Amino acid sequence: MFIKTFSLSCRFIRHTHFIKRSIVTTIATSTEESSKTKKPIEKRNDLLAKRYIGLEKNIWVEFVALFAEHKAINVGQGFIDYAPPNFLINFYKEALDDNNILLHQYTRGFGHRRLVEAISNVYSSYFNRKIDPLNQILITGGACPSLFNSFHGFLNPGDEAILIEPFFDCYEPMVRSAGGIPRCIALKPKSESTKADISSSADWILDKNELESMFNSRTRLIIINTPHNPIGKVFTHEELEHIASLCQKHDVICISDEVYEWITYDENKKHIRMATLPNMWERTLTIGSAGKTFSSTGLKLGWTIGPEHLLRSCQIVHQDCVYTCPTLSQEVIARCFEYELERLNSPECYFNSISSEFLEKRNKLVEVLKECGMKPVVPDGGYFILADFSQIAGNKFQSDTHDMKDFKFVRYLAKEKQIGIMPVTGFYTSEHRHLADNYIRFCFAKKDETLDKAIEILRQL
Ligand code: PMP
Ligand code: GLN
Repeated sequence: MFIKTFSLSCRFIRHTHFIKRSIVTTIATSTEESSKTKKPIEKRNDLLAKRYIGLEKNIWVEFVALFAEHKAINVGQGFIDYAPPNFLINFYKEALDDNNILLHQYTRGFGHRRLVEAISNVYSSYFNRKIDPLNQILITGGACPSLFNSFHGFLNPGDEAILIEPFFDCYEPMVRSAGGIPRCIALKPKSESTKADISSSADWILDKNELESMFNSRTRLIIINTPHNPIGKVFTHEELEHIASLCQKHDVICISDEVYEWITYDENKKHIRMATLPNMWERTLTIGSAGKTFSSTGLKLGWTIGPEHLLRSCQIVHQDCVYTCPTLSQEVIARCFEYELERLNSPECYFNSISSEFLEKRNKLVEVLKECGMKPVVPDGGYFILADFSQIAGNKFQSDTHDMKDFKFVRYLAKEKQIGIMPVTGFYTSEHRHLADNYIRFCFAKKDETLDKAIEILRQL
């Protein structure tokens, strides 16, 4: 009894960070192990930390392996399969040629000095304020770690986090592993748009009253994603204003995942930064990704921008995990930002030209999907396009208690047709999954040759 109470209180103390981790770990390990049967380690089934139980499945792990096994052409996962911009490659070469030996060593933990300065110089004008490079920017190993730092830096066990479904799949397990409780609200397509042969990502909307009902005294944060993965929706000023007013009313933090910030397809639906809305800077952390910004997802470098009082929590999670990100990559991205800064207002600036590169690809895929009897949801931003496949699949694939219809369909496509597409219910919690089992997600940020091969397969379906 004493041991159990002691071990529980140790766990509580661990969460509150009141005593040194080393002491807690030693005590917790010895108390927990003493109650174990003496099974050899390889036979034990209790090795996974309890906070990860129930979070074992991951759509990328499953589908990327499946696509590879069946040599399926990957038009599902969000990465570009052609060369990143030349200037990026050249800056790698230049950085190495400079023979600065320190670029091979650790750099400043919260972000390489040259990079945080370059980000501050570029983003200050977009955020309408001078961003302090040393205290308001944290460089991370990609947008994923920025998300992790935010959830783990703010959530106490039992705190609620509002997630908007569908969402980039790691949001939910990250909230849960931090001890938080996801409160989920789904974007729903307007009913006329579900019947139409072609619809728009802008048709997927949040019910204002339902959103309001998600907020309560336990709500710690809300995460928004605009432009959106997987729908491609670019949230309007009015939509963001409503979310902002609720955050202010309930004193909630907003995590704004803006990794596709530069990729929008309609002059009238440009990306709006949540942190620029009145009174939102103080309660918003904005997350960006070098991989998405410079079409080089393998970089795995990202950043969190926000006020010092919020960023501090993220820095604390970061300092005891990653501590510092790769120096050479940070140097290269710093040079990329410096280069773009010089031509920010010109059409050649990569931030201004990147969307037109993808627009043609988007339009091409939309046409083919229509032709094939799928109903595309035309995105206003990002890499992805949803398509309702129910007409072509007929009754062959049905959701049941084990598996969703879209999962069955994409497995079939990978195995039998060698085309890799993502199931959209993988971006939902089990509660709302049924809303999207007619949809699959394509990534059109691929070279023409890849798209053409995919189109050939789609036409034969
Ligand atoms: N957020 C969203 C919405 C994404 O689609 C992705 C995938 N690029 C990420 C975060 C993760 O980005 P990164 O590769 O920089 O970790
Ligand atoms: N963000 C990308 C997507 O949604 C890639 C995610 C991944 O590979 N984990 O496709």
